[in-house]
Amino acid sequence: MSDETAPPANTVLIRGGRVLTCDSDHTVFDPGEVWIEGRRVAAVGRQGAVKPPGAAGPARTIEAAGRIVMPGLINGHCHSYTALLKGTIDGVPLDIYMLYVMAAGTGRTPRDVAVSALVDSIAMIRTGTTSIIDHFSHRPAVTGEALDAVAGAFFESGLRAAIAPMFADLPYLDTVPLDKGSLPKDVLDAHARRPSPDPRLYFEMMERALDRFSPPDGRVKLLLGVDGPQRCSPELLEMTGDFQRRHRLGLHTHMLETKTQAVMAEGGGFVRRLLDLGILDDKSSLVHFIWCTEDDIAAAREGGVTIIHSPRSNLRSSAGVCPLLKLRRAGLPIGLGTDGSNSGVPNMFDLTRLAGLLARATEPEFEDWLSARDVFEMALGGGARAMGLPGELGVITAGALADVIVLNPRSRLSRPMGDVWSHLAYYENGSGVETVIIDGEVVLEDGRLLTLDEDAILAEADEIVARHGALRQGAEDEVARLYPAFHDMVVSTLDRKDRLQRLIRFE
Ligand SMILES: [Zn+2]
Repeated sequence: MSDETAPPANTVLIRGGRVLTCDSDHTVFDPGEVWIEGRRVAAVGRQGAVKPPGAAGPARTIEAAGRIVMPGLINGHCHSYTALLKGTIDGVPLDIYMLYVMAAGTGRTPRDVAVSALVDSIAMIRTGTTSIIDHFSHRPAVTGEALDAVAGAFFESGLRAAIAPMFADLPYLDTVPLDKGSLPKDVLDAHARRPSPDPRLYFEMMERALDRFSPPDGRVKLLLGVDGPQRCSPELLEMTGDFQRRHRLGLHTHMLETKTQAVMAEGGGFVRRLLDLGILDDKSSLVHFIWCTEDDIAAAREGGVTIIHSPRSNLRSSAGVCPLLKLRRAGLPIGLGTDGSNSGVPNMFDLTRLAGLLARATEPEFEDWLSARDVFEMALGGGARAMGLPGELGVITAGALADVIVLNPRSRLSRPMGDVWSHLAYYENGSGVETVIIDGEVVLEDGRLLTLDEDAILAEADEIVARHGALRQGAEDEVARLYPAFHDMVVSTLDRKDRLQRLIRFE
């Protein structure tokens, strides 16, 4: 909040729009006004009925008549490195997809890392996303340099970001239910020779990074980001627990995304194991959570975690359908995430629509379906929680952080406009976003991105992708050696007749 003795903070007034506050009463002011002072919302209410903060008028007024004013959207799970992998790796399930990304994603320079994050930033800001969790991967392992590069990109773009550097220490081939005997001998030899990453180096890097850019109220901050529990040694998980307790950082991790992962979890659920180690709390978020058992759900609730639902990547890789309404009924908070940008534009309007519709495919009891407003408010509330800022993000209320978007709903394709939430869920694709304010700063104004030179960044991204083409060729050769064994593993795992079903199969 502003200091009374300081000069007047940068005050912005958004006036005349239909203000969807997304508070617990679903309050709408139409026409409304929002006053922003410094980094926070100072006041919100009906137009003309709000007491302005301070005597001085606003430094800037945004006329929003005919517009929708709402909290910025929160992308609860993405991978900024995938912005440079658009149009690659299609038609394979996740276990085989992973082989490609592991091979294709190596050899990135810090500048490549930054450009990839900037490309994602452009798409997200332009479609109304103001906060993200970047489950940041850099191969073969995250370095301090790579972390500085990605954090620098978010400082520059203006996005609010929680960066969860991904880490695992077990060799990938040991973390899937694979018949290794069917692999060629030279592949196995190379696998045996590959050194495992040292978990201590990860935590040393995190320790140093905390000092650099993770003040508790900072716009760019850190989360713990182990890849998935099946890829971590017991020592790594224990060190994660120690670090979490010392620094009170949230944990962001993939969880039970595929049936092969569920098979690896047999004999002791991953969620309960993390809970018993004291790693999970209300700052933690588990991504995907498709193949969850009743005990996984109970453990997640005991831990107080948030689930991040990622329906588009789940469909694309045929990972399965997350039992969204079952999780809702169990009382779990749920946010949404686009996952990798090679699954499509990281556009939260598209994703919110998909989440709402997909849940109807698995739920005959139509009175339990999520309304358009339910899905948005669920995603905003769950996303804010996963960012570690419940009540401060995802709402436009006095004292909340000033992450606000202004949309013009007057597209030729969506008029006449009916219910505002139905408009947002079924007709808006982000192209109506005119103004984006993040942390009190106007980042997009009348459709102009103020923080970045978009043409230059996209040209640089084209160049990088052209340069990495050869690497992808190498990746394909490497994957071809592993493909038959992985193919058999996926098919035989999906054929298993288990109680848990998360794929829709017709008779
Ligand atoms: Zn992911």
